Parts: sequence; structure tokens; C-alpha cells
Amino acid sequence: MEADPTKETAEGRLRPADLRALELLRRGKRFLVCGHVRPDGDCIGAQVALSRTLIALGKTVEIVNPDPVEARFEYLARDCKYGTYRGSLPEHDVAVLLDFCELGRTGPMAKPLAAAPSKKLVVDHHLHHGDAWWDEAFVDPSASATGLIVHRIAKALGVELDVVGARGVFTSLVTDTGWFKYSNTDAETLRVAGEMVTLGVDPNRIYAALYQTRPRIHPIFVGRLLSRAEFLAGDRLAVVDLPLSEGLRSEELDSDDVLDLLRSVGVVEVVLYLRELSDGTCKLSARSKGDYDVNALARQFGGGGHKKAAGATLDGPLAVVRPRVVAAALEGFRAREAGEAREPIAR
Ligand code: 5GP
Ligand code: MN
Repeated sequence: MEADPTKETAEGRLRPADLRALELLRRGKRFLVCGHVRPDGDCIGAQVALSRTLIALGKTVEIVNPDPVEARFEYLARDCKYGTYRGSLPEHDVAVLLDFCELGRTGPMAKPLAAAPSKKLVVDHHLHHGDAWWDEAFVDPSASATGLIVHRIAKALGVELDVVGARGVFTSLVTDTGWFKYSNTDAETLRVAGEMVTLGVDPNRIYAALYQTRPRIHPIFVGRLLSRAEFLAGDRLAVVDLPLSEGLRSEELDSDDVLDLLRSVGVVEVVLYLRELSDGTCKLSARSKGDYDVNALARQFGGGGHKKAAGATLDGPLAVVRPRVVAAALEGFRAREAGEAREPIAR
């Protein structure tokens, strides 16, 4: 495979848009670093890494997320103040939006962010469709994690991450690659992970914090959920749902376990997980392991993500939402067989 020159971090090889983004980071003084709703490991890992980078350059930084950080990320939260939005944003010159590219992904923060007179900088690896609404962007949909892009930014700004920032980058990498299992795991990901270990990151401590601190109910929960799985489209589509009536606290379940187990079935190409939330919506998580584009599927319902991992939030109860999503997924298989491309494959 030919080397991709834009993948190296030497500033000279970065694209013009990346250089403009770096300039904004150099020029700004007061930064607001924002994440998406229910911030995941990549989002909060990238936030701590970028914060440490900016602090090393003498900037002031505040992190604000629409939702609090999960308890299992305490090893990051101990060294970094993750603020939760309470109705007002701190004064700032530059808002950095990490791990998303649509303001709507910040939930209640979207309006105040749009109204703030600050420059908006997107740092992200998701596929974006539509017009660029931001001032600057440092975006690479081929990057395995947003934390990997923040690592490139730190390098380009001449900052060596400390161990706190390095834990953030490592967390981004392992959570978005399923601990280096998914197809987004590439040479840069593994090289940077090794570099973070050299900087003092203890991989087993992070593994233990993330995956070996669960409540006793966890395996029982996974078992109950898996027993609800249905296989459709000649077993190529696995669907699992979680109605509110099951009385399980779905937000406490790391659904990647369930999605990975269903994807482990040889013939399964697409997995859909739909959980009903108490606010009258359903959260869709979609995964693929072939050339099926679940980003295109999620986009039909106002969501997005990557070709092989995407999600959406749909209005309505599970009884209404599930048939719609399943029908769209089956239509995706049919269209693929008929050779009808719904939209150009972006990746
Ligand atoms: P998950 O299923 O783990 O929640 O998300 C999988 C991927 O899809 C992540 O990259 C996530 O950022 C993206 N994603 C999840 N939900 C949404 C959504 O409602 N809108 C968009 N645009 N992306 C989403
Ligand atoms: Mn991510």
C-alpha cells in the first residue's frame, strides 16, 4: 500500500485546512472544549489530550459536555475537570468541538454554542454530509479515533504530551478500535499507542478500569439481551432490542459487548441494537463487518457515524421505531443485491 502523505504529523505535510486550524489553536487564548451527548471514551480522551496540549501552550481551557463522564473513566477525571453543562457557557474565544461535526450532537448546548461569538473549530473523524458551518476544521474520516487527530495536533504544535494527555489518547484509541480489533486499526494507531506506553501509560490499568470493574449484574444483563436477538435476511442481519418494560438500566450496559458477540457469528454482516429510552425516543446502534454502509442507514433516521459503526436517536416507542429501522436495513440488503448505490460510498 502506498503511504498516505497526509497521515504524517510533520506540519509541512498537513493540508491547508489543517494548517488554518492549527493557526487558530495558536492564536486563541480562552478555549472551550466541547463533547457530544453521552460522551464516550474517544470524546473524553481527546478532550484531556487537547486540554493538556493547550495548557502547555499557556492557554486557558474549560471542558464542558452535555452529559457527565461515566464512572469507569475516573482515571481520566481524576486529573482533568470535566464540566457538565448547567445552562450557561464560560466566556471563550474558540470553541473546539471534539468527536462530532454537527452542533445538534451537543443537545442543549447547541443553541448557546451557535449564539456565542466564538470561533468554532471542529476536530473529528466522522463522515460529514452537507455544508461546512464551522470556522475551521481539522478532520480526517480515515483516522481511527479523534484522539489520534489530537495527537497529530500536539505534534504539529510542538507539544510533547504528558502522561495525563497520553492516557487520554490511549483511551481514545482503545475505545474506538475495540481494543485494536476493528477495521479502523492501522499502523499509525498502533505506533501512537506504543508511543503513549513509552510516555508512561499502563495499558492493563486502563483495561482493568474500562472492562473489569463492572457490577455483578453485567453478564446477566448481556445474557438477557442476547437471548432477545433475532436473525433476519438469511441470518445476515442480527437485531436486538431492549424495551423499557424489561426494566434494565440500559445506560449501564456497554453495548459494544453485545454488538461484538452478535457480529462474531460468521454469516452476520449487520447488527442493530435498539434501546427504548424513558424520554420517548429510541437509541439505535448499528455495526457492520462487510461492505454494508451503516452510516447511510443511520443517516436515514437523522443519525450518522462511520461506515461500520453508526447510530441515531429516533422519536417514538420501540414498537413504532423497530419496524421502520428493520425495514430500512432489509431494503439496504435488497438495494445492494440489485446493485443500486444509494449514495456514493464516502470511505
Ligand atoms: P454508538 O452506537 O456507539 O453510540 O455510536 C457509533 C458511532 O456512531 C459513533 O462514532 C458515534 O459518534 C456515531 N453516532 C451515534 N449516535 C449518533 C447520532 O445520533 N448522530 C450521529 N451523527 N452520529 C451518531
Ligand atoms: Mn470517535
